[in-house]
Amino acid sequence: MPDPTFRAPLLPLVGADTLVPVLDGRRMRQANFDAAASAPALREVADRVTEALPWYASVHRGAGYLSQVSTALYESARERIGAYVEARPDDIVVITRNTTDATNLLATVTPGPTLALDLEHHAALLPWRLGAGSTVLTPAPTVAGTLDLLDAELARTPYALLVVTGASNVTGEALPVDRVVELAHRHGARVLVDGAQLLAHRRLSLAGSGVDYVALSGHKLYAPFGAGALVGRRDWLDEGRPHLAGGGAVTAVGTDSVSWASAPARHEGGTPNLLGAVALATACDVLAGAEHALDEHERALRGRLLAGLRTIHGLEVVRLWPEAGEPVGVVTFTVPEDPTLVASVLAAEHAVALRAGRFCAHPLFERLGLPAGALRVAVGAGTSSDDVDRLVGALRQVLSEGP
Ligand code: PLP
Repeated sequence: MPDPTFRAPLLPLVGADTLVPVLDGRRMRQANFDAAASAPALREVADRVTEALPWYASVHRGAGYLSQVSTALYESARERIGAYVEARPDDIVVITRNTTDATNLLATVTPGPTLALDLEHHAALLPWRLGAGSTVLTPAPTVAGTLDLLDAELARTPYALLVVTGASNVTGEALPVDRVVELAHRHGARVLVDGAQLLAHRRLSLAGSGVDYVALSGHKLYAPFGAGALVGRRDWLDEGRPHLAGGGAVTAVGTDSVSWASAPARHEGGTPNLLGAVALATACDVLAGAEHALDEHERALRGRLLAGLRTIHGLEVVRLWPEAGEPVGVVTFTVPEDPTLVASVLAAEHAVALRAGRFCAHPLFERLGLPAGALRVAVGAGTSSDDVDRLVGALRQVLSEGP
C-alpha cells in the first residue's frame, strides 16, 4: 500500500539521480542532506544559465550587441534579487560572491560597533572584528530572555548594527525578526539579517519587516554559480569605503586622485559575474513561486525526520530556544559516537550525505560543550520522504553496529 505521507522532491534538481560508489562495489543514488552547505542546482537555473551563455560578453563595458544584452541580463538579475527580499524602492542590491563577501562589505561601511549573539556563523561574526569592533553575547535560554538581554546591551552602548541570523545554520531557529527590528531601531541601531540559510527555506521582506540589510548566497538557494548579494539601505553603501577597488567602481581616476562611483558600482570593482547573477536571480524567481509549497514540504519532512530520530537511542537534537517557532528544515543532533566517523560510514556504506562538525559556529559549540561537533541534516526542495527514511534506517544501523 502506498505510504500516504510520501513526499517526492518538490523541485527538479540537476544531479538528483547521480549514482555514487559505495563500499560493497555497488553504485547508489545519493540521499543528499547537505544542501545547507551547498545546494545542487535547480533544473531551471541550469536552463537559464545555458540560455544566457551564447549572449555572454562584457557587462557594463562593451558597445557590441552581446554586451548590451549581457548588461541588461545582469541588471534584470539585480532587480529580481531585490524583489525576492522585497527591497524598498531606495535600497541598493550589491551583487557579491556570497554571504561572506556581503558581510565583509557591510562591515567595511558600518560606522560604529556591532552587536551579535554567539550562535552566529563565522561569516556574521568575524568581519566586524576587523573594523569598528564587535560585542558577542551569550543568549538566554528563552526567546523573551534573549530579547531582554539584547535590549539591555543596546541601551548600554550606541551600537551601529545588530547582526542576527535569519535561521541558524545549526538548529534552523531564529529570533522573531519584527521584535528584533523594533528594539534595535528604538536604540538607534540598524539590523543585518544573515539570510544565508533562511532564504533557501522561507522569504524575508525588507519592506515589510523593517530589516535594514540582508546578506545571501546563491549556492544555498540552488544556484551554485558563485554569486550572492547584500541588499539594503543606500546611505552607508553610497558613503562607505569601496569594497573592491578597481575597474567599474570609479567615475574618474587621475594619477593621484579618484572619484568613486556611488553604490552598487562602488562595491563591484572588476568584471561582473553575469552567469552567477543569472543563476541567483532565477533561483529567486523559482523559490518565490514555490514559497508555500516549499514550506509545507519541509515541515512534513522535518516532522518525519524528528519522529524517526526519536526512535534511535542516544541521539539528542540541539535546540537553542525550545519555545521558539517552527525552525526551517535544518536539524542538528549529537550521537554517542564520533560524529565525523558516523558521517563517513553513512556516506561510504549507505550513500547518505550529511555534514559532521561545528559548521563554522565554533563559539556556539564551545558554549554547548560539544568540541567534537555534531551531525547536521538539511531537508529542502530536493528531499523526498524516502530519503528521510533511508537516513533514519542507516543511522539506526550504524549506531547499533558501531561505526
Ligand atoms: N551564514 C550562514 C547562516 C551560513 O550557513 C553560511 C554558510 O554556511 C554563511 C553565512 C556563509 O555563506 P557563504 O559561505 O556562502 O559565504
